[in-house]
Amino acid sequence: MKNYMLKKHLLFLSFSLLYFNITIAQKNKPMPVIDMHLHALNADDQGPPPLKVGSPFDQFGANDPHNNYGETFMEASKTGKWAKHNSTSPTTDDSLRKQTLRALKENNVFAITSGDVAVVRNWHKEDPTRIMNAIYWDFSSVKNRGLNIDSLKCLFKSNEFKVFGEVAIQYEGYSPSDSSFEPYLKMAEELDIPVGIHVGPGPPGVIYLGSSNYRASLHSAFVLEEALVKHPRLRVYAMHAGWPLIDDMIATLYAHPQLYVDLGIIGYAVPEKEYYNYLERIVNAGFLNRIMFGSDNMVWPGTIKVAIDRINKAKFLSPAQKRDILFNNAARFLRLTETEIKKMYQ
Ligand SMILES: [Zn+2]
Repeated sequence: MKNYMLKKHLLFLSFSLLYFNITIAQKNKPMPVIDMHLHALNADDQGPPPLKVGSPFDQFGANDPHNNYGETFMEASKTGKWAKHNSTSPTTDDSLRKQTLRALKENNVFAITSGDVAVVRNWHKEDPTRIMNAIYWDFSSVKNRGLNIDSLKCLFKSNEFKVFGEVAIQYEGYSPSDSSFEPYLKMAEELDIPVGIHVGPGPPGVIYLGSSNYRASLHSAFVLEEALVKHPRLRVYAMHAGWPLIDDMIATLYAHPQLYVDLGIIGYAVPEKEYYNYLERIVNAGFLNRIMFGSDNMVWPGTIKVAIDRINKAKFLSPAQKRDILFNNAARFLRLTETEIKKMYQ
């Protein structure tokens, strides 16, 4: 009898320990985050690694036109002298992938991940739960990567790729409302594929780093208007939230209730005060429920945590508002099912 009681007691104790461990594990595991803007890249995609990125930048450098801006920018990327806090890129494709996947796991992030089809497939194979496939696209992708309407249709119809974006035609000088982009919008609307479009900042001075057709005027969310009107059933989000043209962004959100934004690079790279002012303006204007988290991590896995922390530290956001930005708004935009959401919370 005694023995039995002891066994029972031990059994109970082990159950309690198990329960205790699960509770601890859940407590240690951060709440899930949906990242609408992750890149699957090779280590040298932003230039020869290791490179530093301000997270955030304190200033964006001045260039005497006597000097080549490409050299000025590269020197700043090597030394990190435009910021007190920098993130440094890993030097090999393998370490970039592994460190990014580790950052997703540690911060409990599920990420819409875009890049070359083969690279995204490779990352997805390694972590099929956290990597949700998306296609990085611009007009040069038709010629260089064979990504025309027909091949895109196949990739989306197979259900392997969930999001069309990042669409980066701003770097080529195109507005998403340009007639040449029209067939792609039509395709996405017909297939009901969400589209993420770069509207806002690239690297500072990117016009002088090779993207000679990029224009600051294309930061305006107004570039989306005609596209949205022509395709009212399309799910669209403005990546980088049209920074820094806040009035254009708010007016466009007001006029088009189907439009969402992701925070993109402003989440970690834009100086703190400006970032918070910008984000707070969108919230104050009444559009909190259409702001989604996007890390825009390219080759700096450390920036994912920086961007999440900046949301969590924002004094003007309540805990519920933080959850909306970090998870709920994206879950609604992507039309995740209850089962899918439950799995992310496990
Ligand atoms: Zn991006």
